[in-house]
Amino acid sequence: MPRTRLAPSPTGALHLGNARTFLVNWALARQQGWQVLMRIEDLDGPRVKQQASLEAIELLEWLDVDWDAGPVYQTSDLEPYRQALWQLAARGLAYPCNCTRREIEAASRSAPHADEHELRYPGTCRPAEPTPVAASDVELDECGWRFRVPVGEQSFVDEFLGQQQIDVQQTVGDFQIWTKGGLPSYQLAVVVDDARQAMDRIVRGNDLVTSTPRQQLLAAALELDYAPRFWHLPLVRGEDGRRLAKRHGDTRLVHYREQGVAAERVVGLLAEWCGLGPRREMTAEEFAKSFRLDALPGDDVVFAEQDDQWLLDAR
Ligand code: GLU
Repeated sequence: MPRTRLAPSPTGALHLGNARTFLVNWALARQQGWQVLMRIEDLDGPRVKQQASLEAIELLEWLDVDWDAGPVYQTSDLEPYRQALWQLAARGLAYPCNCTRREIEAASRSAPHADEHELRYPGTCRPAEPTPVAASDVELDECGWRFRVPVGEQSFVDEFLGQQQIDVQQTVGDFQIWTKGGLPSYQLAVVVDDARQAMDRIVRGNDLVTSTPRQQLLAAALELDYAPRFWHLPLVRGEDGRRLAKRHGDTRLVHYREQGVAAERVVGLLAEWCGLGPRREMTAEEFAKSFRLDALPGDDVVFAEQDDQWLLDAR
């Protein structure tokens, strides 16, 4: 049976944007008979609060989204990630680097950037040749590590976006796989998990489309059994064109729930954003029955003041 995962990061509260991605992922799974695992991506250090993990689960339950296995928490066992790091280090495919963001910025001032948040790492600490490092040589938890990214373009076919061509070395360079804080990075953890949990259907926001070739490179270097199909879906943005966030007002599901908005109303708005309009209250089950990927607009959706009003109006 194909397998997919719902993988909330409890770093920020679940808002209308990521709720839409989860709802679509879940609807595809229910339509096509995929097994769903709930995986909490709670590795992101001190910003992650246990309360936020529970809240993410509760809110998805509130929408009436369900899953077949889990929740599993990434922080519950770091050993698989550590093993992966050692495997790369032993082959010279990873190297220690403690450069700060400021140092990277200074070293790459004129270089092109992958996007507004990401800098290309200029290779400051990269050994000239792959240099194997044994587990006993360094205190793993006390330094950051980067992956030695090969040159050249990676290509893959996205089921929603079509053919993608991305040069990881040119855009982000040797990216981080382990942090100074002693934790695996998102890229390493997600590929280790997707492989060991046998994920073959990955549905997520298109902000992660540039992460896919990084994960594919890591999987190849780790010789993992990893060949999922990918769907990178459009995001929800504010009226200023920026990705939905606090600056656009309170779009957290928990806020609407506290205000007495019915879950069916939230699903109704998300459904309209998925091309199932005009908006009306709808259960998640109805959504799953009527959702069609070919009706999903290809462009990012804009969340407007009147959408917020519509949610709050019916109370
Ligand atoms: N945890 C990520 C998020 O909440 C999703 C990661 C993934 O699907 O690979 O955006």
